[in-house]
Amino acid sequence: MQWLDIGANLIHRSFDADREQVIARAREAGVDTIIVTGADLPSSRAAEQLARAHPGNLFATAGVHPHHAESLAPSMLEDLRLLLEQPHVVAVGECGLDYYRDLAPRAAQRRAFESQLRLAAESGRPVFLHQRDAHADFLAVLRDFIRELTGAVAHCFTAGASELDDYLELGLSIGITGWFCDERRGAHLQELVARIPVQRLMLETDAPYLLPRDLKPKPHAHRNEPLYLPHIGAAVARARDESVQFCASHTTAHARAFFGLDRIHAGGGEQTQE
Ligand SMILES: [Zn+2]
Repeated sequence: MQWLDIGANLIHRSFDADREQVIARAREAGVDTIIVTGADLPSSRAAEQLARAHPGNLFATAGVHPHHAESLAPSMLEDLRLLLEQPHVVAVGECGLDYYRDLAPRAAQRRAFESQLRLAAESGRPVFLHQRDAHADFLAVLRDFIRELTGAVAHCFTAGASELDDYLELGLSIGITGWFCDERRGAHLQELVARIPVQRLMLETDAPYLLPRDLKPKPHAHRNEPLYLPHIGAAVARARDESVQFCASHTTAHARAFFGLDRIHAGGGEQTQE
């Protein structure tokens, strides 16, 4: 079985000591494709470098997380644009709005979100979206751009039924993390995940965050890794009353198409596709 993790923060310092082993372990577990999340300019650059070193297996996003929205100067948008010219940099993000932590002023968050949606539209790349406690504003901004975007995925979906309906209506894909495996916080997702159409569902670990709570035995480090993606996939398959094989193959196929991975040569070049 082949799995695809659409969001792993492999640039995080908790992977500094054993990043290559983490990637190798994931591959042995069938997670042979990982999209490495960029959260600011330095981590986007590092994600690009890491993807470049693993052609065909690792890809990167380039963007600025709402927590860092204030850092997004016009010159940085140019730097992100240059990164996005690399074929293995496959999406803009993560970007969006986070009013839960509110680490950046909300007006700055909205500005940074809009400018990255514009960047995605111009570069022809899909967006990897983060939203927490900001649903109304998030939707309002996104609605202005959605027709120009090649694709949009709401990463780490943890919200409720009406939010899910809004996203699906807008044409978004939905990323499910190990939050789903949390019997306290994730119980409501059991029913919701069955409502996501098969061609809109993707899986992610959000490593090193969100270690699935029901892993046995618990890893010593309490650090999440792409290795655990099949565990999340098996739980999602159970909730959807699908086979694990079916879940692996449809989530992988959808993610490959969404991020355009089959356009990209293993050697790093981009094929022109008719
Ligand atoms: Zn996020």
